[in-house]
Amino acid sequence: MANIADDIKSILEFYQALGFERLPINPPSPPGGQGGIKEATLKALREEIGDCKRCRLSEERTNIVFGEGNPDARLMFIGEAPGREEDLQARPFVGEAGMLLTRLIEKMGFKREDVYIANIVKCRPPMNRDPEKNEIESCRKFVERQIEIINPEVIISLGRISAQTLIGNSGLKMTTIRGNFFDYKGILLMPTFHPAYLLRNPKDKWLTWSDAKKVLDRLKKQS
Ligand code: SF4
Repeated sequence: MANIADDIKSILEFYQALGFERLPINPPSPPGGQGGIKEATLKALREEIGDCKRCRLSEERTNIVFGEGNPDARLMFIGEAPGREEDLQARPFVGEAGMLLTRLIEKMGFKREDVYIANIVKCRPPMNRDPEKNEIESCRKFVERQIEIINPEVIISLGRISAQTLIGNSGLKMTTIRGNFFDYKGILLMPTFHPAYLLRNPKDKWLTWSDAKKVLDRLKKQS
């Protein structure tokens, strides 16, 4: 309920900025149409996060890595947490693993700016350790809001922690779940390997490509 209220607030703020005192009967479309409203709502969410200190990952981070891409994306990629390069640049997946993800996106026929890329937690865990349960619990509402705003047709989760968090089962093993579609609040969810894992295990790249092809098939059917 609070989320709907936040969305309405963002829309009202948008029209207020155009000089309307109340919502017009036939309002002009925001720049970018639906994407414009989504962009404004994402911006409001980023402002809500602010200089977040809701968990101890705030202590050693350089930057919060909110996420980036097309607010109206049909496809979202969600990893687990920013790494060193991401922390420095405040952008998701820009290191070596990010380059591999970009190659996968392009192989699927998209550009990076066509999709939306984010992580479960927005701050880098020290020494790139796995985020802890309480850190995930503190931060997950933000990625959940991003998904709700963008409302993609398919989510590809990258790595075990992302899949476990979105599916809501911390006992799941990547080897048994990857390559199979799950339901995330009515959105198709495809778990696959994290690109950092694929850098260490290049022999498994074809498995991720096979997962990506299943996603492409679904996107074609839905277009
Ligand atoms: S990880 Fe999330 S909850 Fe924790 S400090 Fe960063 S933005 Fe806040």
